[in-house]
Amino acid sequence: MPVKKIDVFPLQYQETNDRLADRQITLVRMETDDGIVGWGEGITMFTPATLATTAMLENGLADLVIGRDPLDNEAIWHDLVREVWWYGDVGGIAAFAISALDMALWDLKGKILNAPLYTLLGGKKHERLPACASTHPSHAKIDDLAKELGDHVANGYQLVKAGFGKKGEANLGVDAGRDIAYVRAVREAIGPDAGFIIDVGAKMFWDVPYAIKMARAFNESNLTWLEDVFHPDNMHAHTYLRQAVPDLRIGFGERYWNLDDYQRLLEAHICDVILVDPGRALGVTGMHRITQLAARYHVKMDPHSWSSAVNGAASIHVALSNPNASIFELKPVENPMQHELVTNPIGHVDGWVYAPEGPGLGVDVIEDVVHKYHLRS
Ligand SMILES: [Mg+2]
Repeated sequence: MPVKKIDVFPLQYQETNDRLADRQITLVRMETDDGIVGWGEGITMFTPATLATTAMLENGLADLVIGRDPLDNEAIWHDLVREVWWYGDVGGIAAFAISALDMALWDLKGKILNAPLYTLLGGKKHERLPACASTHPSHAKIDDLAKELGDHVANGYQLVKAGFGKKGEANLGVDAGRDIAYVRAVREAIGPDAGFIIDVGAKMFWDVPYAIKMARAFNESNLTWLEDVFHPDNMHAHTYLRQAVPDLRIGFGERYWNLDDYQRLLEAHICDVILVDPGRALGVTGMHRITQLAARYHVKMDPHSWSSAVNGAASIHVALSNPNASIFELKPVENPMQHELVTNPIGHVDGWVYAPEGPGLGVDVIEDVVHKYHLRS
């Protein structure tokens, strides 16, 4: 049952969790000669990366998979990584293309063997993970911002995450006094037991002294972790943060590409939780290798997973297969790529996230919806 056909779908949608901003993904539909279909995703997010990934897939990379047996998926993964030696094997957007192909191959393999992905990865080490409402705050007033997160906890989420520097009027991350007041107000609104993560993120450019000051103040409100405080190239800055606030957990890594990147991060001993996506870090194969390595370093892992139901399904399977999985992030507001794209969206049940049942990724993609959001139509 070799792979007979691969179609590439660059999609654009408006993200209800991000002030209806245009966001993009690149999906791959892979079909065997006996009609079994698998899906994979690259989280390309922006137009240049989406079009480049689509072009890479349609002009050579997909051809390397045609005619191959999906059961040989890891051998194919190695061939793909070797193929992009000039434009992606040490990181870069070729990883999106390989991620999508690899994820679709695992989906096919599961369907051929009639086994869910977590079984192919060696079985579940957890039955379920605590659900985290992962948010982009946008209200202007602190009371409204705090209430929004309090409502998510009231609706069953065990944790909340707030990103700084997002669209809208929240303006978080730029005013020390206001940010500290915000964190205190959120802790008040969510109660003492809910998890609370602050994601400083890519739009902030804090220096080390400022970050230490903020981290100390935030940690009085009992953060679960502080995330992405510095640029990925600025690993040593975390060392100073770690030394200055030793009882603060640090989450990091969503912008890295591959096992070598994460190995450097883990060897630096600067974070307590790594974040990783199968739709970016070379697919299910890449993410599984990374998370297994993190477990050897006794570092927790959190699937970043802020994309479609395809990436989300792959993420929950890999996470449940990993002994050090910690939480699972969900976009709390219904959105096209989570709730419209598949017949069985991933949500939480009483604050817990489970793997979708069924072979492979376990989600059923609705092809009419794929065509509806096609970037070029
Ligand atoms: Mg983040």
